[in-house]
Amino acid sequence: MSSALKDIVTAEADSQETQRLFDAQRKRALVLRTSSADERIAKLKRLRDLVHERTRDIYAACHADFSKPAPEVDITEILPIVMEANHAIRHLKNWMKPDRKRPTLLMFGTSAEVRHEPRGVCLIISPWNYPLNLSLGPLISAIAAGNTVILKPSEMTPHCSAFMADLLADVFEEDEVAVVQGAVETSQHLLSLAFDHIFFTGSPAVGKIVMKAAAEHLTSVTLELGGKSPTIIDKSADLKTAAQNLVWGKFANNGQTCIAPDYMYVHADIADAFVEATRKALEKLYGKRDKMAANGDYCRIVNNKHHARVQGLIDDATERGAHMPIGGGANSDDNYLAPTVLTDVDAESRILDEEIFGPVMPILPFTDVNHVIAAINAKPKPLALYVFARDNEFIKQVLANTSAGGSCVNHSMVQFLHANLPFGGVNNSGIGNSHGHYGFKAFSHERAIVRERFSLAFLFLPPYKGFTKWFIRFAVRWLN
Ligand code: NAD
Repeated sequence: MSSALKDIVTAEADSQETQRLFDAQRKRALVLRTSSADERIAKLKRLRDLVHERTRDIYAACHADFSKPAPEVDITEILPIVMEANHAIRHLKNWMKPDRKRPTLLMFGTSAEVRHEPRGVCLIISPWNYPLNLSLGPLISAIAAGNTVILKPSEMTPHCSAFMADLLADVFEEDEVAVVQGAVETSQHLLSLAFDHIFFTGSPAVGKIVMKAAAEHLTSVTLELGGKSPTIIDKSADLKTAAQNLVWGKFANNGQTCIAPDYMYVHADIADAFVEATRKALEKLYGKRDKMAANGDYCRIVNNKHHARVQGLIDDATERGAHMPIGGGANSDDNYLAPTVLTDVDAESRILDEEIFGPVMPILPFTDVNHVIAAINAKPKPLALYVFARDNEFIKQVLANTSAGGSCVNHSMVQFLHANLPFGGVNNSGIGNSHGHYGFKAFSHERAIVRERFSLAFLFLPPYKGFTKWFIRFAVRWLN
């Protein structure tokens, strides 16, 4: 690890320094407006190659922040970043081409196009749970779209933040990309500046603070938020596959994933069998229960505060009568919490209200899927909704009658890895999209341009009498 990484910065950033960076980026943003696809691609290639070269530093930073196993770092941090970069490198020339539009009847005699112009100076505020992926992913889209970026990563994963500051300084001048480290105070200072776009990933509660601050300057926002993502498992589901895919979705990164399946509705006929299938899947993925704490493939909770929070959710549920067929090991020294399954959970339990963001799987049996759909629709729209079934009618019914940022059928979380799909929430779980072309568009303004050639627009000009008056009536009736 380079020497810069040894001095981990957790203090709030100096606001004058931040203002200086912002002013410098405003100037540079005007220059970048006319940057070519080749210039942007060269930067993305350099960034991608450095990520490959510095894999060991990435493992070390992720391990120092929350004991994240290297293969999980590969799959959930490095792979999405490299994929995002490669996808942009491959398609950028095409994305940047003006999108020509055919004239409508009324606009006959004009030519028209949509240009994707850079938004300008962008702020990216990122969370701690996938500290590199959720910072560098949007950054790649912002650079592809020709912007400058101030990145404010999370203060909770300081080794990853320091690593990114070091990495990005190797690729970009600070007037193009700068990392500003700090916590709430730094974030709030940044939010007071008149950015052209803010891309925020984090909780719905902070998302509201960000949107209010953005309103002050009428800054556009992309909000990638969280919440509780429900899972519905029908009795027609292949239980072994369902359990395996859900164990991975729930316990990878120790459940600290925005799109982790949060709570499970399981058809009552198969609820006991599902618990047993989950036990087997856990053993297959992470080994026997007594050995799990020593298994390097099983991640930790990010810090003591969150460890206590998740333990508190389990305690609250069990005090209200929940059973724990799987679980029961914790160590606050290293923030270990055994994979936990809860059944017979009281409806008033906090675990059914708050986003869990930890390795706990509450199981709620159901007999009528209409009740499940009604319960989901009574809550804020989730970031993800998963359905496990072999019965196509059941799948159709669930998808057609609910809303969610994204969904998987018979899997969980993999929607994030599909470069051709938008990734985003809906209302409480987010506004706007990221990834691939959608990410490029989030950081671009779609500018409509009409070129006059031989249109009939002059026929609409006053004075409004005689032929002009007749022609306007004709246009209202027929030319649209
Ligand atoms: P958070 O909202 O607490 O923090 C996110 C960022 O906002 C951090 O950089 C933090 O410093 C900053 N921040 C915190 N409080 C602030 C305030 N009062 N004013 C201004 N800035 C502030 O979220 P977190 O705990 O880092 O991450 C977990 C949350 O993020 C979960 O809700 C999760 O579902 C969500 N999330 C969503 C996605 C997604 O892509 N939709 C991805 C990861 C996480």
